[in-house]
Amino acid sequence: MLGTFIIFLSLPTLDTTYASHLELNTTKLNDNMYVAQGSGGNVLLFIGNDGVILVDDQYAPVTKKLQSLISNLTNEPIKFVINTHLHPDHVGGNEKLGEAGAIIVSHDNVRIRLSTDHFFEFINMTIPLLSGKGLPIITFPQNMTFYQNEDEIKITHLDNGHTDGDSTVYFTKNNVIHVGDDFSDRSYPLMDLASGGSIDGLIG
Ligand SMILES: [Zn+2]
Repeated sequence: MLGTFIIFLSLPTLDTTYASHLELNTTKLNDNMYVAQGSGGNVLLFIGNDGVILVDDQYAPVTKKLQSLISNLTNEPIKFVINTHLHPDHVGGNEKLGEAGAIIVSHDNVRIRLSTDHFFEFINMTIPLLSGKGLPIITFPQNMTFYQNEDEIKITHLDNGHTDGDSTVYFTKNNVIHVGDDFSDRSYPLMDLASGGSIDGLIG
């Protein structure tokens, strides 16, 4: 998609202590869209009269920074958070943002995996389950479309690649896509095999 802004993996470090000391740097994409980048996954901010839509929400320790960054841009509340997959540098803000009223949305498998403690083989660490407010409350098996802020937002579940719950989020009118961790410009592709990742799926 020539000319499309592509929001993708910042190589995640899963050290949350380290993350708490990092700032989020914001880049304006257009009048309604920003990307916040820090120690883990990129956060896409879409602001409009219907409210704020986030794609991913970084590590838990930076949620306050993320909320204050958004409140400096708009008075609108965070209405939806769309998780591209289950990793803690993409869903870490879910609990606090869910408690504040945001509706968390993801592929079915993301909710299933976040509902229990899960082992991350590549960091040799068990990540505890998310509390009720942090879990996605709307899930989808394949695709979903949002009509918000005068855009048509297409969420597409991909074959098992980085994990078994990967989705891309394409803002068709703004011509911006968030591809989660299915693409990296900083490392070889990462397949989280314990979470259903697969080299064949990633190639696909
Ligand atoms: Zn990931």
